[in-house]
Amino acid sequence: MDLGATICLPKNPRCLICPFTELCEARQKGIQDQRPVLKPKKKTPHYILAAAVIVKNGRVLLAKRPSEGLLGGMWEFPNGHVDGDPAKGLSKVLRTGYSLKIHGKEALGVVYHTYSHFKVTVHPFRCKLVLISKNAGLKWVKLKELGGFPMGKVDRQISKLLS
Ligand code: SF4
Repeated sequence: MDLGATICLPKNPRCLICPFTELCEARQKGIQDQRPVLKPKKKTPHYILAAAVIVKNGRVLLAKRPSEGLLGGMWEFPNGHVDGDPAKGLSKVLRTGYSLKIHGKEALGVVYHTYSHFKVTVHPFRCKLVLISKNAGLKWVKLKELGGFPMGKVDRQISKLLS
């Protein structure tokens, strides 16, 4: 018998038909209404990210995610976690994560998404490219082909902000 699902119900324990009523300490102390003690709900982590939408000559710069893990092998706008002002954080994220230098950030909106274990708020910015490293592992994709690229929901939403 699953006692927790059928008898020892939160706020309404059915002590009169419970097989443990004689043994139950909560019942003896008269605090059965406070049983069962539920585990506090875990707070869902919430991450803030900034992403760069860099368009040049009808093409947009995308990064490929690692083949393992969440959204493995899919394409995304270069992005990273930021603290504080997303516009300020973006330059650092691009420099350290992709060896990219940009200027002229124009906010495109805000994208929200909830995954199974965390949620994200993403701030995409249209940027101008100043410098790109040869080994950045990025790809220029024709804007008209963007819709056919495998992407997660966040990046699909960002790509829709471009149209
Ligand atoms: S509080 Fe104790 S006696 Fe009452 S239903 Fe839960 S386990 Fe049974």
